Amino acid sequence: LNENYARSIAYYNDTILNNTILEKQLVGDFDQALKEKQFCMYLQPQMTSEGKMLGAEALVRWQHPKRGLIFPGDFIEVFEKTGLIYRLDRFIWELAVQKLARWQQEGHSDLYISVNISTKDFYYMNVYETITALVEKYRIIPSTLKLEITETAIMTGTAGELDMIEQFREYGFQVEIDDFGSGYSSFNTLKDMDVDVLKIDMGFLRTSKPENLEKSMSILNMIISLSKTLGLSVVTEGVETKEQVVKLTQMGCRIYQGYYFSKPIPVEEFEKRYM
Ligand code: C2E
Ligand code: CA
Ligand code: CA
Ligand code: CA
Repeated sequence: LNENYARSIAYYNDTILNNTILEKQLVGDFDQALKEKQFCMYLQPQMTSEGKMLGAEALVRWQHPKRGLIFPGDFIEVFEKTGLIYRLDRFIWELAVQKLARWQQEGHSDLYISVNISTKDFYYMNVYETITALVEKYRIIPSTLKLEITETAIMTGTAGELDMIEQFREYGFQVEIDDFGSGYSSFNTLKDMDVDVLKIDMGFLRTSKPENLEKSMSILNMIISLSKTLGLSVVTEGVETKEQVVKLTQMGCRIYQGYYFSKPIPVEEFEKRYM
């Protein structure tokens, strides 16, 4: 064996092994983490181009006693694989609904929170019953809770899931397609599904080659004008510069979420800064 090759195999095995160990540990830590409320909700504002805050997306963070702050990229997939995700999502949804209830008592009834729904949640629980039960428990205005579902979840779903999305809308929730344009069936999704919001995938703003940026911008332009025709609102996610906001505003986008305005931040900080 070539020495470099052997070394790279060893490295590869090492990485997989370390990942597996880490994953096992995170899964093992889950019950206690949920019980001790180590998971917390961060909020990232959604803004108009003029900087008015309209609402926020709820994004989970794990305040791990030994490892410090852990980001969803390190645990969501593992929890999806192991069937734990629905318990985490239910917990985060409840935090979001509690926060909305508080805001509404304080007179901020116009603000919304978007929560993420994993494809896997549909396998492990009745998502509709879970969410409507929370809304009834805390008596919030349903239209202030937005439900983010990826197009993969919609297109790989059964007829039952498509029905559920109809039911969500009839109940008064707003349904958003997350990461729009990243999958293989974006336009089929639009044809088959009635939704309220398209959240454009960040990938269009990050091209690997600079010469592709112009193409990417044409696609964005097309998606934005198409959503106007279909009566959908558009959120552009991942905006990091003023130039992006200016360009997209010229194309007709009104709502933005991205580091240009703010990273996801703890709720207390969000309230201090924006309310
Ligand atoms: P997502 O739903 O597409 O959320 C957007 C992600 O992009 C967030 O990463 C956010 O911090 C990041 N982001 C926002 N603006 C910018 C920007 O301007 N530049 C860059 N580079 N990134 C930006 P985060 O919080 O690490 O979450 C990653 C993914 O994990 C989410 O992607 C979502 O798929 C999943 N996730 C997060 N929280 C939850 C949750 O409570 N439940 C479920 N099921 N999934 C979640
Ligand atoms: Ca999302
Ligand atoms: Ca997204
Ligand atoms: Ca995503």
